[in-house]
Amino acid sequence: MPVLYPIAFLAVQLAIFVFLPSVAAAAAYVAMVAAPLLAALALAGRARRETGPARAGWRVLALSLTIWSLGAFGNLWYELIEARQYEMYRDAMLAFNLAAVPIAFLLASDWRATGHRLVRLIDAVLALSLGQGFFLYTWAMLTAHGGTPDDAGVTAMVWLLDAQNLFLAIGTLVRWRAAEDEAERSLFRALSSYELVYLGIVFINNHFLAGNPSFGPQESSIVTLAFALLAWWALRGPSAAAELHRRSPVLVRAVRSARPILLAGALLIVSLFLIRVDYAYGAAGVLIAVIGYAMRNTLAEVRHIEHGELLQREHSELRSIAWTDALTGVANRRALEHALSGAARRELQERQSVAVLMIDIDHFKLLNDRCGHVAGDACLRAVAQALRHALARPGDVLARYGGEEFIALLHEADAAGAMVVGERLRAAVEALRIEHLGSPFGVVTVSVGVAGAILHDDAAAAALVDAADRALYDAKCDGRNRVATAPIGVAARQALS
Ligand code: GH3
Ligand code: MG
Ligand code: MG
Repeated sequence: MPVLYPIAFLAVQLAIFVFLPSVAAAAAYVAMVAAPLLAALALAGRARRETGPARAGWRVLALSLTIWSLGAFGNLWYELIEARQYEMYRDAMLAFNLAAVPIAFLLASDWRATGHRLVRLIDAVLALSLGQGFFLYTWAMLTAHGGTPDDAGVTAMVWLLDAQNLFLAIGTLVRWRAAEDEAERSLFRALSSYELVYLGIVFINNHFLAGNPSFGPQESSIVTLAFALLAWWALRGPSAAAELHRRSPVLVRAVRSARPILLAGALLIVSLFLIRVDYAYGAAGVLIAVIGYAMRNTLAEVRHIEHGELLQREHSELRSIAWTDALTGVANRRALEHALSGAARRELQERQSVAVLMIDIDHFKLLNDRCGHVAGDACLRAVAQALRHALARPGDVLARYGGEEFIALLHEADAAGAMVVGERLRAAVEALRIEHLGSPFGVVTVSVGVAGAILHDDAAAAALVDAADRALYDAKCDGRNRVATAPIGVAARQALS
């Protein structure tokens, strides 16, 4: 059970302290190097088992702990090998500060924005500048009085480290609570519990143990508990089933909007403090913060616009799918109804008439029965194409109304004009010469019913379709393969009402 490794590590560490007090101090230094390094290994292993963006997250954490381990090695070197105990070592302190950089980077990371390398690069530069700026300020505070660390300097440094740890603990906690998927949640749960324990241990260490002669490195090395905890989370592996997790949408939105400004804002604050003690670095920090934020913002804006355009394209594609008849490719009934009510509104202002032509294939059922539905469908497609090409004006609409019925909607057409178009449609289908042995004409033909009116509302449009339907019925009764017009009275009533 790999999850037991961290517990075994802590047990061995404790056993050495209790049973081998002569090597306890040395063991404590070694433990502080080994624990973060082993945890980094566990994190790297976890990264390999992850898929998706979580992978990079675990790797970045492994980097943080590796840097911490380097800092601890610096301490071990100075205090054990060079035997300069209880001094402040600039390099080790720098390493401990740089260990916070990958975590600050993770805090600002956009989980789903895969592929935007430039944003990650900007975040990395900002996080690095933040770590460096924080270190310079802490070091300046530590050595404020006469260039060497003194009690007042140590006090200032301790509080600054508390502030840093608190910032990371709160940040990672918020990211955990606002995580948008299981992988993100799992990473930030591990990270925030580590940061909390780390915050507590470092607080106790710095405020109560350090500088107190009755405590030594054994007590300080309790920080391995935090690394063991992180390793334990990493070794637990990805959870198979997503646990039920309630997150507040307000928090999610807050994180989304705070993320882009987090690093730049923190860098700005630290740099403004730093300016008082180191003008060049402070000013550089301010500059990097402003430029970094501007670049990140511009990139986000670009992505926003691209996303908007994509949505727009998808929207119009969906719209055209929704308004097209799948079999024939001409407009469907929904599109026709939309065109009719649009026509009603327009024609009312211009007082121009529209004409509706209802077109129905003759003896289509017989064609289906004799040749099968596949041939029937092919015939429907061919007829639709012929009708479409026979409509000359761009504003004219051809729609499949139902089964083998089509409707042509003609704008600014009077009854005589509509009859001419009707005849042209009829002739166009006949000219296809699709064999139809069940029909007295020997080929596929259509009958057309024509009605015209000035529309004034949707009810008038429906009445117009109705009139065309009745004219179609007349054409069928008259022997099919012909055009009939609605009785003059119907169209005239429409026009007058
Ligand atoms: P009429 O000359 O009186 O119009 O006779 P008809 O056989 O064309 O009229 P009817 O309305 O009785 O038959 C319509 C047929 O159209 C019924 C059905 O078999 C066929 N049909 C309807 N929709 C489709 C379709 O999408 N594909 C195919 N292949 N046939 C269809
Ligand atoms: Mg029919
Ligand atoms: Mg028919």
